[in-house]
Amino acid sequence: MNKKRIRSQAPVTCQCQPPAVERPPSILRQVQCPGCGKFFRTNRHVDYCFNCAP
Ligand SMILES: [Zn+2]
Repeated sequence: MNKKRIRSQAPVTCQCQPPAVERPPSILRQVQCPGCGKFFRTNRHVDYCFNCAP
């Protein structure tokens, strides 16, 4: 008798959900432009908006 042995496959880990991607920490901060008083977000060190920035 020549029985073929069926090798049971190793359990495959479900990859349905992609690994959570960590976002880089946002360096944007909300500031109020001292020139026009508009609130905006910027990553620069100046508080002036793009319109009032020198
Ligand atoms: Zn401004």
